[in-house]
Amino acid sequence: MRVISLVFLLCAAIFCSAQSTPSTSGAPKEIPSFDVTAIDKTIEPCVDFYQYACGNWMKNNPVPPDKSRWGRSNELAEHNLYILRDILDQAQTPGQHSATEKMVGDFYAACMDESTIEQKGTAPLTPELERINGVKTKADVIKQVAHMHQMTRPEMFTQDSRLVLFAFYQQPDMHDSSATIAYIDQGGLTLPDRDYYVNDDAKSVETRQKYLEHVQKLFELAGDQPEIAAAEAKTVLAVETGLAKASMDRTLRRDPRTRDHRMTVAEIASAAPNFDLIEYFASNGSPKFSTLNVGNPDFFKQVNSQLDAMPVADWKTYLRWKTINSQAPTLTKAFVEEDFLFNGKYMSGQQEMEPRWKRCVKATDQSLGMALGQLYVDRTFGPAGKERTLKMVKAIESAMKQDINQLTWMSDTTKQQAYVKLNAIVNNIGYPDQWRDYSSVVIKSDDDAGNTARANAFEVKRQYAKIGKPTDRKDWSMTPPTVNAYYRPPMNDINFPAGILQPPFYGKLMDDAVNYGGIGVVIGHELTHGFDDQGRKYDAQGNFKDWWTPEDGKEFEKRADCTANEYSSFVAVKDDKGEVKLNGKLTLGENTADNGGLKLAYMALTEIIGNTPVKPIDGYTPQQRFFLAYGQIWCQNVTDQEARKRVLTDPHSPGRWRVNGAVQNSAAFQQAFGCKAGQPMVSENACRVW
Ligand SMILES: [Zn+2]
Repeated sequence: MRVISLVFLLCAAIFCSAQSTPSTSGAPKEIPSFDVTAIDKTIEPCVDFYQYACGNWMKNNPVPPDKSRWGRSNELAEHNLYILRDILDQAQTPGQHSATEKMVGDFYAACMDESTIEQKGTAPLTPELERINGVKTKADVIKQVAHMHQMTRPEMFTQDSRLVLFAFYQQPDMHDSSATIAYIDQGGLTLPDRDYYVNDDAKSVETRQKYLEHVQKLFELAGDQPEIAAAEAKTVLAVETGLAKASMDRTLRRDPRTRDHRMTVAEIASAAPNFDLIEYFASNGSPKFSTLNVGNPDFFKQVNSQLDAMPVADWKTYLRWKTINSQAPTLTKAFVEEDFLFNGKYMSGQQEMEPRWKRCVKATDQSLGMALGQLYVDRTFGPAGKERTLKMVKAIESAMKQDINQLTWMSDTTKQQAYVKLNAIVNNIGYPDQWRDYSSVVIKSDDDAGNTARANAFEVKRQYAKIGKPTDRKDWSMTPPTVNAYYRPPMNDINFPAGILQPPFYGKLMDDAVNYGGIGVVIGHELTHGFDDQGRKYDAQGNFKDWWTPEDGKEFEKRADCTANEYSSFVAVKDDKGEVKLNGKLTLGENTADNGGLKLAYMALTEIIGNTPVKPIDGYTPQQRFFLAYGQIWCQNVTDQEARKRVLTDPHSPGRWRVNGAVQNSAAFQQAFGCKAGQPMVSENACRVW
């Protein structure tokens, strides 16, 4: 899954940057929900449960050369890719096809048509580079930014490497979630985090050097002489370093208070006059508005002087870079390879590029995901799938009600409010009620770069149109084939795309214990996000509003601090460059959701199987199978490079700690496996929020 550091989207039961898998020919094997052969029985479950549940899987499933991380949810994402390819291949066969089939088939065909792409060379870059060439003044720079924003789908908001200078997007008003308003925020970096620009350790210095070489190479491919390209790369790094210095740290930003700044257009325009924001808003294609939320006002104030200090020529270099960089994946082999060498190989440790068809299936999902998703749902997910999932959601919601009821540290006053919020949570399962209408997007079977640009422009327009309108709570943030799930604080909803409702998360023929340990925990995880350290600050309607008594708020913080400290002691990477520990504050929300999800799903399972003795299967009791199923959804291998990047950028802990961190806090786990005090999987100081 993408690492969505969306401002509001608490992405993910899983992770967010769904990588897919190794290049095998033919369809992948059936994925088992519960895999006895994955277990390493030479390890004691109470000593290292992750190693016990996943040891053999890890031994037998090294990271494939075209991946930087390989886990069981990647296996499922891979399985989905094959299904999607089949749909796309069929859409191109002679005969009758629906408009939807034709559209996705043509998009995929254009992406696969490498010879046409080679023939066009750098021609797809020309119109935009010529526009930038025509920029004469600082005001022109901002107008060009407005133009480029209209072509960059704001998928990952502030963290998106394609964003130019800053972020502009729509979201529900933090204080009145029924209305959607405009937001501006920090942005404009290309490397995945501000730390890469400002840290002075050897690894960060090396990364900046490699980045300079990469930027130079892409400028050269676009036609610049090496010595000019080298100077341009330095300029790009200088511009972005300025933006990074003005950017707020990712961990700080988790607190919604740091991003809550409602201002009038006039106020922010005069606080940062060099941005020409009045002109920007008038020319960026968005509806008119008079107030907006400014995520990080200091960013605009600080960059305001940078805008003045740097010559127009430098800003033009930066704009050219952003154009070339964002289009690189749709250009010739030379561009695609250079993009891979830096972003895939150097930054993530991926040894080889994925085969083209996988990249093109993913590109189709990214550009026309709700059309491709409709075909995917028709083929894989019937109403029965929705019903079964809904039943589990209801069971886990009722467990949460019971859990809140049992809390000894929370007053009745806050509990009543918590019930109100819990009852108001909306469940979205499988796919949206209404399919998106892409009929206005022109897709041609021989224009990959153009298709991508038009699909991007369509999505930007669709999103901008929400500004000033009542909030559309029915719009999904992930496409149906996605192997992931999410909770949205301003919507107070939990969402499970059809893509994740399959083995290893959910198996139709599996016992309840295994399904509750898989998708059950995912459901509990998303539900708990509504009550984690960020989610708890939003009310039942999705407004940023405190519904806690001050005492209960303090009790919550005490427990959350315990979790933050606990996870900060876990080692995320240990390689020849040294040891890096997890950032317990960055991962606090996800770790809280993992611990809560595990508890809630276990409670729901207990409710179902009650005290009736159930015969062990494969030698394991239902309770043990529940925890093993949980452990096994997180079996994974990861390159050291990817692990290092994720410590800085991923709000989720690595698989080992998602499992061991949660079970060492769980009395039910310790009981299921007969663990004794003093063993590693029995935390001396168990942290428990929910
Ligand atoms: Zn999550």
